[in-house]
Amino acid sequence: MTASRHFDFIIAGAGAAGLSLVWNFLQREELRDRRILLADRSLQPLRDKTWCFWDDRHVPFDDLIHHTWDKLEVRVRNTFFSETLEKYRYHCVKSDDYAGKILELARQSPNVTLLEADIDGFAFESGSAVMRTAEGPFTAGHIFQSALRPPGFNRLKLDLSLLQHFAGWHIRTTEPVFDPESATFMDFDVPQKNGITFAYVLPFSSRDALVEYTLFSPEVITDEAYRQGLETYIEERLGQPPGSYEIEYTEKGVIPMEDRRYPARYCRNVWNVGTMGGLTKPSTGYTFTRIQKHSAAIADALARGKNPPSDIMSPYRFRVYDMLLLFNLHRDPEASLTIFYELFRKNRFDSILQFLEEQTRFDQDLRIMASVPWGPFFRAIYHMKHRILTGA
Ligand SMILES: Cc1cc2nc3c(=O)[nH]c(=O)nc-3n(C[C@H](O)[C@H](O)[C@H](O)COP(=O)(O)OP(=O)(O)OC[C@H]3O[C@@H](n4cnc5c(N)ncnc54)[C@H](O)[C@@H]3O)c2cc1C
Repeated sequence: MTASRHFDFIIAGAGAAGLSLVWNFLQREELRDRRILLADRSLQPLRDKTWCFWDDRHVPFDDLIHHTWDKLEVRVRNTFFSETLEKYRYHCVKSDDYAGKILELARQSPNVTLLEADIDGFAFESGSAVMRTAEGPFTAGHIFQSALRPPGFNRLKLDLSLLQHFAGWHIRTTEPVFDPESATFMDFDVPQKNGITFAYVLPFSSRDALVEYTLFSPEVITDEAYRQGLETYIEERLGQPPGSYEIEYTEKGVIPMEDRRYPARYCRNVWNVGTMGGLTKPSTGYTFTRIQKHSAAIADALARGKNPPSDIMSPYRFRVYDMLLLFNLHRDPEASLTIFYELFRKNRFDSILQFLEEQTRFDQDLRIMASVPWGPFFRAIYHMKHRILTGA
């Protein structure tokens, strides 16, 4: 392998995870002279995702935040909950801003090489990690990959598998309609025809907002069904009939919500990151913050001359909670709505976000669990005991 095809690190996949790694590597003084190859089939920044997350600290990509909300709203069982956050703030980042900024930084860094190519596979050969691409093989000390499913993926233990699928419209209304300080986190007061269904609304100004129509169900629905869901919600909840707004941008997505435990490595010295690293939280689909934390942990370890961390992101007790909630989302949508209702009725939004962020102590977990109906959770424990007793 010639020097120009060998690197210290290869980052295979330049989405949320790959770009977060590049950014983190470039922040560490100790890694500044490491030769990095960043590969993806396309390195053109794309507006195809709007990532939302909450944070109680200074966020890593401060200047990439498109909008921040201090207030969140939830509707469930015909009840409206609204709260100003104290501990957290709710942010969103647009994928084209994120990719544009980090790719620009990468292009200006003499130690980073960019490669546009289809990635075919990975291996460990002759002491190096190998990435096979349409442009031939490249080698490195470590490869971080978010492009391919790990080998044996379909054989990993799996009891619960749901999809979080959604379509969103960024609309601009003729009249002022929205409060840009307040985001609708979840509105379950919509017809529940095809599985657990909710809408969320991210207002960027009084006249424009991203409205998403989301379902938790085993199958995706047709484009026509998403369109109808969005149009009805915008008309009935926001009072905006067709013709009173323009659609500026659309997005669509599917996020797996599963109890599958992804392996840390694809093969020796090839590390799975992002969705392929199992970083999606099974009960919520939130992944973005976990990606940022994972990337920072990898960069810290490498800067200290250590191997990347291979432990599972969530502690055991949170994996069990995820499994129990996912069981109910999967098997009992009605009970799940009651769980959400009691959760938001009896807890502060900050406490719920802290729990979902896995930042609560055990006594705080118990308080949250005591606030929701126990029956569905006992049933879930009974059905999932084989997983709970074997490490979740
Ligand atoms: C529309 C959408 C909205 C989301 N919103 C949120 C949110 O609000 N909050 C949240 O926490 N999570 C959200 N998620 C979940 C998660 O954060 C995203 O899916 C996130 O992009 C995952 O990052 P990733 O790097 O693992 O994958 P990706 O961002 O998908 O990156 C993978 C990269 O690998 C490249 N690639 C794949 N295969 C190959 C190949 N064979 N050869 C070369 N390149 C390849 C792709 O081109 C891509 O650039 C959302 C997901 C979607 C789909």
